[in-house]
Amino acid sequence: MINERMRELGAKRSVIRELFEYGKKRKAEIGAENVFDFSLGNPSVPSPTLVEETLTELLTHDPVALHGYTSAQGDAGVRAAIADYINRTHGTNVTADCLYLTAGAAASLTVSLTAVLNPGDEVILLAPFFPEYRVFVERTGARVIAVKCREGDFQPDLAALERAITPKTRALILNSPNNPTGTVITEENVKSLCALLKRVSEMHGQPIYLIADEPYRELVYEDITVPYLPNHYDNTLVCYSFSKSLSLPGERIGYILVSPKAAHFTALYQAICGAGRALGFVCSPSLFQYLIPAVLGETADLSVYDTNRKLLYEKLTEYGYSPVRPDGAFYLFVKALEPDANAFCERAKSFELLLVPSDDFGYPGYVRISYCVTTEQIERSLPAFYALAQSYQI
Ligand code: PLP
Repeated sequence: MINERMRELGAKRSVIRELFEYGKKRKAEIGAENVFDFSLGNPSVPSPTLVEETLTELLTHDPVALHGYTSAQGDAGVRAAIADYINRTHGTNVTADCLYLTAGAAASLTVSLTAVLNPGDEVILLAPFFPEYRVFVERTGARVIAVKCREGDFQPDLAALERAITPKTRALILNSPNNPTGTVITEENVKSLCALLKRVSEMHGQPIYLIADEPYRELVYEDITVPYLPNHYDNTLVCYSFSKSLSLPGERIGYILVSPKAAHFTALYQAICGAGRALGFVCSPSLFQYLIPAVLGETADLSVYDTNRKLLYEKLTEYGYSPVRPDGAFYLFVKALEPDANAFCERAKSFELLLVPSDDFGYPGYVRISYCVTTEQIERSLPAFYALAQSYQI
């Protein structure tokens, strides 16, 4: 017999992927320019030219060494360069031995969760959350406990969080800037949340791990800053990825930072290495590991996302929608114009607008619009958004 749970996961695509596939079919039918696909979070700007230049230079090196396996936790020199960059940027004191290189944030998350969870444990997700978290958590035999953020500013609801924590709570995933709201958790709220976790961990006599999922750290607008969680909470695992900042999502490169101040650091780091081994990751892609030291601190040109953010926010507000103003990432979270977001998205499809309903994000009644598209697509889609809003006035 096969594993029925795995069969179900394979047979049923995520709502986002389902919509993306529908979009491909629809584009073939009526022409790509007539379908306004806002389904996927695939970066729409090219990588910085330094990426291509560095890769070209790397390809002149000895191919046997270049394409060979690295240490399971990643090349020591690459990890040292990342540690140095983190220390310079965030005033920390981390070393290469705190880092474990991965195949992107998804791998960072599955490895981290596998390392800290046992069956029956509970993991708190602040809703709305990236739907794959549920898959990653439940695979370990642990249970998801969803705690809704405050409607309006989408900051954590600390009172609700405190009520949700039990002696079985082993971890909390924090994603800021957030997919799907674009919200950055304020420093004040980070401090309060960390104080709460510290207090409850002490009360229960075991750490609650803070898993910081940070693929959007560099994608912030105006003068907003994203607090660095290891500076606020010792038992932190940072799951970082270069997918979005460098527009390299298909190349699969990221890392886990285990805070050197974490309780039982050595055992925790060993559990990370063991989880990577058990999941068969072997090592992260070597060519892209060697790229990283040259491009630390670089980003793709993110200005188009800001242009898109302002345009969509302004126009949708003008048409009568209620979007959440994003501080970062490239998503706009908008209240559906009827209680059932799925019905709303079905109606949007008749205007060739592909929007993702929020139910799988654990926060029904909203839609997610991925604005990592060309500004021209947004401009052309505006009459459709207007007509969709108008269709609810009649
Ligand atoms: N976490 C969040 C919140 C995401 O939005 C994504 C991708 O969209 C990931 C993790 C996975 O990113 P990666 O491509 O680095 O695996």
